[in-house]
Amino acid sequence: MSVLNIGSHISSSKGYEAMGKQALKLGASTFAFFTRNPRGGSAKEIVPEDVNRYRRLWQEQGYGRIVAHAPYTMNACSARPEVRRFSNDTFADDLARMEYTPGNYYNFHPGSHTGQGTEEGIRLIAGMLNVHLKPEQTTTVLLETMAGKGSEIGGSFQELRMILEQAELPEKIGICLDTCHVWDAGYDIVENLDGVLEEFDRILGLPKLKAVHINDSMNPKGSHKDRHARIGEGTIGLEAFKRIINHPALRELPFILETPNDEEGWTREIALLRGYYND
Ligand code: FE
Ligand code: FE
Ligand code: ZN
Repeated sequence: MSVLNIGSHISSSKGYEAMGKQALKLGASTFAFFTRNPRGGSAKEIVPEDVNRYRRLWQEQGYGRIVAHAPYTMNACSARPEVRRFSNDTFADDLARMEYTPGNYYNFHPGSHTGQGTEEGIRLIAGMLNVHLKPEQTTTVLLETMAGKGSEIGGSFQELRMILEQAELPEKIGICLDTCHVWDAGYDIVENLDGVLEEFDRILGLPKLKAVHINDSMNPKGSHKDRHARIGEGTIGLEAFKRIINHPALRELPFILETPNDEEGWTREIALLRGYYND
């Protein structure tokens, strides 16, 4: 494959076919979308005809997997039982909805333990996975690498590994690497991309890496902040992104932009990065 597989977040408010068309308009070959209001709870009803039109459109293009994103309000390891219940319900409902578009990715932030400690947090996250993942599901859920802000779990590869170790169906679980988050977490993807990916391989195994969130960062390495910047306008910088998209361990993966942009900005970033992709 000699074309970079890249897209951005797309609004899901008008349904699946509209998302597919919007992605094509941006020049994308993959995309991400929130399964429901990212800050709320309710999900749009799925219209099977709409999903089928999207699937036909995507098939005609010969495009592959898309990367759904769980709402930010999901937190399986909150100290508050009602938040844990909401998270489990949302997770189950989203997984059921994902099967309308078989074989895709469902990305979620592992969660914040809100004072209960990392070990208990990991136990609760694995608990949610073990209740809701099913051998027959076609969706792969992705744990996102986090910046390690506050009590966030997933700010290190070790923590993600501990979740995988407690999972009963690890084959249904992959990792999504967010470039802003790992940088903010302290991984030097600018000066030592090879070293970071070797560490990933040693701790998690590169076959677990299924997608990349490609974001520049407003803050320095190790800041634990999580503020995304446009590609080339942050502390990671364009030169590092040229290496990231072409790295043998990453270059075939879907790349998702979560940069602060409008349509025009994403169209520009997709074209920009495609221009730096080596044949
Ligand atoms: Fe995310
Ligand atoms: Fe992300
Ligand atoms: Zn982020």
